[in-house]
Amino acid sequence: MSEGATAAGCGTGGRTAAGRPAAGPATGPIGWPRIGVDVGGTKIAAGLVGPDGSVRFARTCPTPAQAGPRAVLDAVRDAAEGVRTAAAGPVAGIGVGAPGVVDASAGTVLSSTALLPGWAGTPIRAYLRAAFPGLAVAVDNDVNAMALGELRFGAASGLDSVLYVSVGTGIGGAYAIDGRLVRGAHHAAGEIGHLVASGSRTCSCGGTGHVESVASGPAIEAAYAEACGASGPAGPSAEPVGLREIVRRADAGDPVAAAAITGAAEVLGTVLGGLTCAFDPEAVVLGGGVAGIGTRFTEPLARALRRGLLPAMAELPLLRAALGTNAPLVGAAALLDDAGIAGLPDVPGLPDVPDVPDVPDVPDVPDVPDVPDVPGLPGLPGLPGLSDTDAAARTATEIAADGAAIATNEERP
Ligand SMILES: [Zn+2]
Repeated sequence: MSEGATAAGCGTGGRTAAGRPAAGPATGPIGWPRIGVDVGGTKIAAGLVGPDGSVRFARTCPTPAQAGPRAVLDAVRDAAEGVRTAAAGPVAGIGVGAPGVVDASAGTVLSSTALLPGWAGTPIRAYLRAAFPGLAVAVDNDVNAMALGELRFGAASGLDSVLYVSVGTGIGGAYAIDGRLVRGAHHAAGEIGHLVASGSRTCSCGGTGHVESVASGPAIEAAYAEACGASGPAGPSAEPVGLREIVRRADAGDPVAAAAITGAAEVLGTVLGGLTCAFDPEAVVLGGGVAGIGTRFTEPLARALRRGLLPAMAELPLLRAALGTNAPLVGAAALLDDAGIAGLPDVPGLPDVPDVPDVPDVPDVPDVPDVPDVPGLPGLPGLPGLSDTDAAARTATEIAADGAAIATNEERP
């Protein structure tokens, strides 16, 4: 992408890598339409997703987070059932994006923040497969789902490899190569928000100085409050100022507000530049509400990112996510194309396979008597002038000396 195109920080819309057709309607063993579900800390969204990535019958309900994971699962089931009823036709499966570290192969949450108490260990896929017999179910981390949505239908459509980062209340990320998400040995690949960056602010995970604690929306608000407490116009006892108001003040000429946004963007851009050097994706895609601030955030981010690139990467496109608020639902539905995680529907009516009868033990084969030792062959006489003993006595040093002598001889005219 040219410098002029990056002046706005990002572009939007699908791109096509040379030699690879743009992703059209996804084709796979599981058809369409599908139900996409996004489980958030405050609300659950569900919608019917078509083969072109369109969303219909979307609905939301509050997340009963404090009532525990069973209540959350019940709400997910009800939301999906509501969409299925509204669809008034067959649906092929259910994809779910959920917060926390998710074992996508099992469809189970491994760990989560305090956003959803007790969420770790929740077997989302097993629950939904029992609730919707005959439907395929796929479950993954919500940011992984959003990245997959951008890869199939959005800003990264047609690309094979992409580094995706979502900047909002938290910072999440994902990396895809060969058109597939990289999940990692511990199901936590792409957790960009928890890379150590700078400062001493506590992260949502309990760590210190993580990217999320420096560059997320709440981090920008904290940075502005800290700066105002020290020297800014608001004073130390002022009410907390939200991100939207910080942007407004920056646009009105408040240098403290502008610096809070720029500082966050530069930290994230530097981290993304380093990750780009490590993984060399075809593009970086930037999503989330903070990215929606616009050029005040994306321009310093792009400059910092490009400072960290090798010359061969100079044309790396930095793209704005294109799916907007539909991304979590579209991405969740796209998870069903991942053969590694999609739970295939149970096939009804197959008879139980009878147990194979035990095979009787094979009688022991009697031991073969030992073969008597064959007397040794008489030793061959050594070659004259180079007995076995002589050869064994030749040291590496002597052999090297021979080599040097050969080299010396060959150099002679
Ligand atoms: Zn962290």
